[in-house]
Amino acid sequence: MNRLFLILGDQLHPDPHPLLVDFDPAHDRLLMVEASEESTHVWSHQARSALFLAAMRHRAAAFRAAGLPLTYRQLGEHPQASLSATLCAEIGSTRQVVMLEAGDYRLQQAIQSACTAAGVALENRPDPHFLCAQGEFNAWAGDKTNLRLEFFYRWQRKRHGILMAGDTPVGGQWNFDADNRQSFGRQGPGLLPPPPHFAPDALTRSAIADVERHFPEHPGRTAHFGWPVTTAQAHTALDDFITHRLPEFGRWQDAMWSGQPFLWHSLLSAALNLKLLDPRTVIGATVAAYESGRVPLAAAEGFIRQILGWREFVRGVYGRQMPALAEANQYGHTTPLPGWFWTGHTHAACLAAAIGQTLEHGYAHHIQRLMITGNFALLAGLQPRQVADWYLAVYVDAVAWVEEPNTLGMALNAWPGMTSKPYCASGAYIDRMSDYCRGCRYNPKTRVGPGACPFTTLYWDFLARHRQRFAANPRMAMPLKNLDRLSDTELNAIRHQAANLRADFDGV
Ligand SMILES: Cc1cc2nc3c(=O)[nH]c(=O)nc-3n(C[C@H](O)[C@H](O)[C@H](O)COP(=O)(O)OP(=O)(O)OC[C@H]3O[C@@H](n4cnc5c(N)ncnc54)[C@H](O)[C@@H]3O)c2cc1C
Ligand code: SF4
Repeated sequence: MNRLFLILGDQLHPDPHPLLVDFDPAHDRLLMVEASEESTHVWSHQARSALFLAAMRHRAAAFRAAGLPLTYRQLGEHPQASLSATLCAEIGSTRQVVMLEAGDYRLQQAIQSACTAAGVALENRPDPHFLCAQGEFNAWAGDKTNLRLEFFYRWQRKRHGILMAGDTPVGGQWNFDADNRQSFGRQGPGLLPPPPHFAPDALTRSAIADVERHFPEHPGRTAHFGWPVTTAQAHTALDDFITHRLPEFGRWQDAMWSGQPFLWHSLLSAALNLKLLDPRTVIGATVAAYESGRVPLAAAEGFIRQILGWREFVRGVYGRQMPALAEANQYGHTTPLPGWFWTGHTHAACLAAAIGQTLEHGYAHHIQRLMITGNFALLAGLQPRQVADWYLAVYVDAVAWVEEPNTLGMALNAWPGMTSKPYCASGAYIDRMSDYCRGCRYNPKTRVGPGACPFTTLYWDFLARHRQRFAANPRMAMPLKNLDRLSDTELNAIRHQAANLRADFDGV
């Protein structure tokens, strides 16, 4: 055998698969591995594991149908737990292993070590899925210590010519935040278009059954599994989103509502991260919908900002900042993750809702991840690595390159280089953006006492604890001014209440 082409579980690109441009079926071989370690290195949600396996099995079936020589190592049918150990066992007389760069630093290191130990060369090729190669990102970032999405996003829009009229943005402005990000008000979201559900076929059912057999104690449920597992299904999901939900996406992208886990969101992240869907296709469909008058500019721009901006930005940050990013902890937070992160059994209605739907579907939208669970973890001073491992475990779209910067950079501000201030807020923000507080035993306006909202207590305590650090930041001037309005007596009571909370977060 000549070369072994390794395809990872999140490298399921449509045909022509970019790794296979020079694949020679007469001499080369393809290898795909279902490694149990990928479900156990963090305590992976059953739906997350099932989605990876189902999508891999469908992609493998397509490779086989095309007549490609494929070795597929299925969960439970090979003795090795890790991908690197399976790779070692499969190397045989191979002279070279060829792969697209892994999106997970840990996995890339393990594969490199396996090849070195076996004395086989590893050719690591750039993944053309992304619209900003790592080298381009690094050149853009230069020696900056603070990286800002807004500048990166404008640079991406210009160089790719997306929603541009010559050198200026279509509509005369780069963002439409003033039109976007509204709350529903007391009347709620009204009638919502149901997102598409892809009923599991025999291959997907086999993946679900294997996960339930091998990881019976793992968190999360598969009962509602309906995620797209092929490129064709991902395209159907994209079309459905563009037609039924994109027109309202921008307006409601930050809003939350009890019992409504999906609202106007696209639910495309998992298909994108598995590479079933190309971001160029998503952006092209969005621009076409705007140009044909089917969606307003604010919605199209708001959505493109997520794909062309945030998604590419966090990937660049991950590549540039690893491995230090994984252990970042600028506040020195050490509190362990409360047990209810794995059950959703908490009296705080917002946390119960966000975590409950996460366990049910493997999904929560951005603001639930950032301003509910993430905000709590930041204010409570939870240990960042434990929090990041939780996020990596519980979402169907969770892969290291996107989860780590979002958690450690955005939500926890453990690495300070990608936001100009911490994303922290009291219960008042959650009350404004959702209906959660209406059904909660706590009161978002109350800072101390038995009914005090834990977010509100911990928010003021967080500002007070880090006052000196924030004093130099002009974007924190207003919160600090409000903090200074509190009397010493009030602040002491808040600190006391926060200390009591910290002593028993399991009781929240
Ligand atoms: C703490 C935290 C952890 C996160 N972990 C992940 C993760 O593991 N995997 C993941 O794909 N996203 C992650 N995100 C980003 C975001 O929450 C999800 O991409 C989004 O909720 C997925 O749902 P959707 O497809 O309906 O997105 P939509 O709201 O419809 O957004 C459209 C698309 O934009 C992209 N996008 C939006 N925001 C971001 C962002 N901040 N970073 C990267 N891409 C973005 C996604 O591909 C998404 O599908 C995380 C965010 C936070 C705050
Ligand atoms: S009162 Fe506080 S804990 Fe309860 S739902 Fe509102 S923000 Fe969450």
